[in-house]
Amino acid sequence: MTVTPLSDAQITPFYLTSGAENVALIRGRIASVGQPATTILQRNAYPPAIAKMLAEALALTACLASTLKYDGIFTLQAKGDALVRTLFADMTSDGDLRGYAAFDADAQNSDDAVASVPSNVPQLMGSGHIAFTVDEGATGGRYQGIVDLKGATLSDAATAWFANSEQLDTLVLAASHQQGQQWQATAIMLQRIAAEGGENSSAANVELSDDAWHTAKTLMESTRFDELVDPHLSPERLIFRLFNSMEPHVAPAREVRDKCRCSPQRVENMLGQLDPADVQDLANAAGYVEIICEFCKTERQFHIDKIETAPAPR
Ligand SMILES: [Zn+2]
Repeated sequence: MTVTPLSDAQITPFYLTSGAENVALIRGRIASVGQPATTILQRNAYPPAIAKMLAEALALTACLASTLKYDGIFTLQAKGDALVRTLFADMTSDGDLRGYAAFDADAQNSDDAVASVPSNVPQLMGSGHIAFTVDEGATGGRYQGIVDLKGATLSDAATAWFANSEQLDTLVLAASHQQGQQWQATAIMLQRIAAEGGENSSAANVELSDDAWHTAKTLMESTRFDELVDPHLSPERLIFRLFNSMEPHVAPAREVRDKCRCSPQRVENMLGQLDPADVQDLANAAGYVEIICEFCKTERQFHIDKIETAPAPR
């Protein structure tokens, strides 16, 4: 039985065509993750501007993770030297999304206006870098791309990463907005499908592809912030609203959920790999080490006598 995901907890793949020939020329994705972003952000007391930036990072991560070809994990990790020191989000190919932000305590008192635009990277993160990691485990290997935090938004950084690492033209756009307790967090990605080999590479088809890319890019760049974060506009309706002239074909949506991958065993393994003297320092008077997961805020206690230490490296 297929369960239809909630419209604000899904990734919707789509294709854009040339119309006349009905050839898929551009592949796209919309990640709409307001629902998981809401519960992830509720666990932390982030200042509004930082919550907004993390919501954008979650949407971007879900969108980029949807390009994983095999089972694996996609990670976005940014390091800055301003209010936000670390911004981290990852998602598995099954749709388990999580993230957190580490920030300077001064940020608590900052009165950043949370404008209706994507987060201001220079202001919140200063200078630094952002790393995108694709880890496809046993089947696909691991690769990482790092770009400087030069652009104005996280989407600019993601677009720059694609420009550095992929042969394919790619455009990414993300936005987030809080209304009451609910977050809307959306990212759209367009990628040109290579017209390589065979009949697709004829001059006429290349021209068709050039035209389609130019049109799609213009349509995406005309997207308004309020369209991206409109809770009443489902991803499918947004696709048709934006790209109607390119005869969009929408594929079945995939669910995204707020789910951490931590477990008592994983935390214990981590403790077991530390220097026993350091673990001793972490323990309270009764001999318990208390560990709180950065992502899901689950608290766990381990007694130092029961932590199995890893065998010494040979
Ligand atoms: Zn956790």
